Amino acid sequence: SADTALTDLLNSRIKDVPDYPKPGVMFKDIAPLLADAEAFGALTRALADRARELGATKVVGLEARGFVLAAPAAFAAGLGFVPIRKKGKLPGEVFEQSYDLEYGSATLEVQCDAFAPGERVLVVDDVLATGGTIAASLDLVQRTGAQLVGVVVLMELGFLDGRERLATHLGGAPLETL
Ligand code: AMP
Repeated sequence: SADTALTDLLNSRIKDVPDYPKPGVMFKDIAPLLADAEAFGALTRALADRARELGATKVVGLEARGFVLAAPAAFAAGLGFVPIRKKGKLPGEVFEQSYDLEYGSATLEVQCDAFAPGERVLVVDDVLATGGTIAASLDLVQRTGAQLVGVVVLMELGFLDGRERLATHLGGAPLETL
């Protein structure tokens, strides 16, 4: 099917880098995918198609690789883009949400006025690992009052059970992996 062809193309352009950034981690490097016009274009169109099919009015990207995927998809779908950023990067009033990392914690922020009333949000990131990043992001979207219509990631590391962790944060919205 067309989806299998897309998945094969994307898989062929993602590089597995063992023991990066530390021993035991298999890093999924999307740089070769981004550098390949055909693969990057196909990915962008697939994300834009989902944004339109889900009736999104904004596409949200998570710093930093999520920006690179979400912004062109928003453009291709004729939609606006909204960033969720690491703490201290966004001016004005922000909602903030902290989450636990393996060592310590991190904080993400979104501008309080990022969405108008009634907006429908698609959240995009590159890798779903433990799910902590996306869980915090979904909590931020909820606090803005916008409606989550879906989450799309390029890859899901199934053995880390991120999908299970996200179940209580999705509010029934679909979580899809390309
Ligand atoms: P998590 O919060 O554990 O789901 O981690 C997700 C974030 O960490 C994503 O934004 C990814 O960019 C990054 N990440 C986690 N694991 C990997 C990996 N194996 N390869 C590449 N990026 C990863």
